[in-house]
Amino acid sequence: MKVFKFGGASIKDAEAVKNIASILRHYENEKLVVVVSAMGKTTNALEGVVAAYINNTGESSKLLNEVKKYHLHIMKDLFPEGNKELSNAVNNFFVEAEWVLEEQPSKGYAFAYDQIVSTGELVSTKIISEYLKECGLKNNWLDARGCIRTDNSYREGKIQWEVTQSLITEQVAELFNRSNIVITQGFIGCTSENYTTTLGREGSDFSAAIFAFCLDAPEVYIWKDVPGVLNADPKHFPEAQKLEMISYLDAIELAYYGASVIHPKTIKPLENKNITLYVKSFLNPTATGTLVGTNAQTKPLIPSFIMKFNQELVSISAIDFSFIAEDNLSVIFGIFAKHKVKINMMQNSAISFSACIDNDPFKVPALLEELNRSFKVLYNDNLLLYTIRHYYPSTIEMLTAGKEVLVEQRSRHTAQFVVRNSESQ
Ligand code: ASP
Ligand code: MG
Repeated sequence: MKVFKFGGASIKDAEAVKNIASILRHYENEKLVVVVSAMGKTTNALEGVVAAYINNTGESSKLLNEVKKYHLHIMKDLFPEGNKELSNAVNNFFVEAEWVLEEQPSKGYAFAYDQIVSTGELVSTKIISEYLKECGLKNNWLDARGCIRTDNSYREGKIQWEVTQSLITEQVAELFNRSNIVITQGFIGCTSENYTTTLGREGSDFSAAIFAFCLDAPEVYIWKDVPGVLNADPKHFPEAQKLEMISYLDAIELAYYGASVIHPKTIKPLENKNITLYVKSFLNPTATGTLVGTNAQTKPLIPSFIMKFNQELVSISAIDFSFIAEDNLSVIFGIFAKHKVKINMMQNSAISFSACIDNDPFKVPALLEELNRSFKVLYNDNLLLYTIRHYYPSTIEMLTAGKEVLVEQRSRHTAQFVVRNSESQ
């Protein structure tokens, strides 16, 4: 049994969906749980719908309709003769999203976000499931909301592992009696009150890891539009190289610091059960890709570069010039935790504490406001955070040449720099 995950780029149009069918055909005799995310840039587009809804711009229905049209277009290419059952199902998902837009957003941004943005995965998986059937690849569609149970932290649902474990085992076993392939959504889950939650952007990798963990699958395959895990983003580093193997430790570090190739929460469930992860190219499915696993030593051992754009550096000091010590720090961390703001890098001196964070317009203003009530707060934005894993001194010189470095930090294997951003994302 294997768990596969296909991301947005691998299903961005009809051609891409057809390619998935041909990949799955190679594994026809195996049991597969196939976790799929939203098509192409649908999640971004749906985020636009939510923003319009929350800001009451009057455009939300129009924007939702554009998302719908994009899917109908793909369906037309895949089913020139039409598919009534699929059209109804897709239509129903959009009607449900439309209903949310008709209500006042009384439960707040994060709640609305999850109810609307989850439409992307629900629709993509229906389309793929129906298309595979059409190609003779028997499969069953599983609603991940019926088995991935989370708390009600909307936009970053925390998995309730025990219930999830028993729901997944039970439901997948039942579907495997009927077909070898189970198609389900990445990124989404559900609370005990039946409200949809999401697991954080790019969370479909994590969903694949959850399924693999609960089902004791020996292998997870993440299918990407790159040959495997690269040591840098080729958009910014044209000489980027593929890593053949990565240790779990390096993988978790790279993902934690923001390497977009694997979602940070993915590795832990895999490591805990010794599940091997393959990152492979859906454009070249027979090529080896990258293996992340138990006995894997990172190979080649070269520096890996991670860039995080749109960073803000917040410097916090006590109003009365007192030291920033344990008592203040615990208050400061409490405020960050309350606003669910993750610190990408931090440093403290006698009288100030600095944190580099993502400039999230829905979280940062409220965080700063609360910090300002008890502390003196200064901030700089439009910054870029570089993280280099397995660095050489020369790599650092090369990266920081001619740039203003606001904060830097080095440990034995990892170096981080916050610089003013002169590059475009
Ligand atoms: N569709 C979601 C996103 O784009 C989840 C994922 O792709 O992993 O963030
Ligand atoms: Mg996606």
